[in-house]
Amino acid sequence: MARNLDAKCRQCRREGEKLFLKGEKCFTDKCAVDRRSYAPGQHGQKSGSRLSDYGKQLREKQKTRRMYGLLEGQFRSTYAEAARSKGVTGERLLQLLETRLDNIAYRMGFGASRTEARQVVRHNAILVNGRRVNIPSYQVRAGDVVAVADKARAQLRIKAAAEATESRGIPEWLEVDTKALTGKLKSLPARADLPSTVNESMIIELYSK
Ligand code: ZN
Repeated sequence: MARNLDAKCRQCRREGEKLFLKGEKCFTDKCAVDRRSYAPGQHGQKSGSRLSDYGKQLREKQKTRRMYGLLEGQFRSTYAEAARSKGVTGERLLQLLETRLDNIAYRMGFGASRTEARQVVRHNAILVNGRRVNIPSYQVRAGDVVAVADKARAQLRIKAAAEATESRGIPEWLEVDTKALTGKLKSLPARADLPSTVNESMIIELYSK
């Protein structure tokens, strides 16, 4: 499987903000963006203000893509699907990213990071409406019930992640029973429910050139 092998919090430094790729680490001051707040590499300390419009759009896309842990091809085809579907393309793009099964499992607290939640999905530990689904890109629909399978319920890392997530607050559009390790997608998230750090219009501008 192809994946980005850059150290997780180095990617935080690249994008200049916490991407929460490594679960708890980004919530602490161990995240590299707190230690060295400039981009990694020999040109990292040059001012970012010289970025062209294209450069800014590219960084915004890379940041968002990395946040959700997608490769370029996967991210671009998600954009293409958003552009084809009804509704505002930017909002649809974020909804499609948020309703991936790996992301829903992460939001519900079944993994400490999206990477960990994806592993949990791949390892057959997640049920959708009672059926095992091990495809991270599976699109969860409004009304679907997502739960940790019986055999995985005793896993301490899942319990710990669920408790930490609950204490930080579960998004409005999800309903989660942390004790039972089960949750429901109540409705598709509206734009206001989604990360305010993402400027999706810049991504649209980049791809629609
Ligand atoms: Zn970090």
